[in-house]
Amino acid sequence: MNQNMFLYLFLFGEIVSFALNEFISFSTYLYKKSGKAEIPEYARSYIDEGTEKKSDEYYKAKFVFGQVRRCTVFVFSLLLVFLGYYTWLYDLMDVGNLYLQSVLFLVFLSLPGLVLNIPFTLYSEFVIEKKFGFSNTSFKLWLSDLVKNIVIEYVLGFLLYGVLVFILQSLKDAWWYVAGIFLVLFSLIFTVIYPIWIAPLFNKFVPLEEGSLREKLDALLSREGLSLKKVFVVDESKRSNHSNAYCSGFGKNKRIVLYDSLIKTLDEDEIVAVFAHELGHAKKKHIAKRLITSFAILFLALYLASLLIGNEMMYLSFGFDSTNPVVGLFLLSLVFGRYPGFLSWIGNYFSRRDEREADMFAKKKLGSGEKLASSLLKLQKQNLSNSQPSKVEVFFRYSHPTVFMRVEYLLEP
Ligand SMILES: [Zn+2]
Repeated sequence: MNQNMFLYLFLFGEIVSFALNEFISFSTYLYKKSGKAEIPEYARSYIDEGTEKKSDEYYKAKFVFGQVRRCTVFVFSLLLVFLGYYTWLYDLMDVGNLYLQSVLFLVFLSLPGLVLNIPFTLYSEFVIEKKFGFSNTSFKLWLSDLVKNIVIEYVLGFLLYGVLVFILQSLKDAWWYVAGIFLVLFSLIFTVIYPIWIAPLFNKFVPLEEGSLREKLDALLSREGLSLKKVFVVDESKRSNHSNAYCSGFGKNKRIVLYDSLIKTLDEDEIVAVFAHELGHAKKKHIAKRLITSFAILFLALYLASLLIGNEMMYLSFGFDSTNPVVGLFLLSLVFGRYPGFLSWIGNYFSRRDEREADMFAKKKLGSGEKLASSLLKLQKQNLSNSQPSKVEVFFRYSHPTVFMRVEYLLEP
């Protein structure tokens, strides 16, 4: 084994991931430029030439921004390693107690990335999103969001790392599955407390009021033997005009959240159709399946980490002279952190299949796919999202089929 093998594996991950992402982004850029990407006839009543032009400009602004951001992050991640930030931080946190030093080290690891991210989010929010009329946020709201996020991240970070370091330092060979069980519990608890305690710090959630929309949703659910308990409208329009709907939590705490801008954009039957799609995910157990798969991957990753964590060469090649397993776990995540990205197309493949299944569920329940199709086209128009990604980009990055693909199978007789 070469002495610097882990360093090479790190560089390989960084460079290949950077190159792959450039390749994917340029494939769409060139596809759009080639003029082969056309808006289908049926979509023309929604996406007229003005919208198409605006959507292209939005795409280009985000493309250039994405290039600058990706290049900066790439150089920055290499600099952190080669300028010795991590060893410097580890020594700086040496407070005379290995447990405390390890926790502080993990907590402050992300600080440079956090700081680097600030100018990018500022530019994205206050230049790009403002220019295209999406952003309604004020600087004050943006700042208060940032501060709240940092506080929550650090409080949870101390809790999470406090326990994790204890497990790593006190259990010799059993650490990986005990840590796995702890992480699974932590994420399940987080899913439960997030909508109840954390999300309300950022937004107001109001139960959907009585009326014809509520009755229609109720009717749909009761046909499935379910009852409508927790449907909320969230005031996300104070930040952005992008619309969405999502499902969160599980079991008794499951809730469906509709953005207020969604209610303004779509008519009642279209909201029912979006809702039927979400219901399809629940009925087909997509969320549960995804959760179980991610836990299985977590255990596999921790097991593999347990095989490598004692490797002295890894510590030496990154300039650490002690083999603290906490540092080891961090180094493994640094070295192999980009590798799962090479396989993200597998997850996206299954996700696109699930989305199609949820669409077909909605189509069947509503007797027609028309309302879901028109809601997708309206949202496409409103969000100005890129409707013509290249096949390469869909393959690697798309968790949903493109809007036009979805509309086509929804409208099929
Ligand atoms: Zn979906």
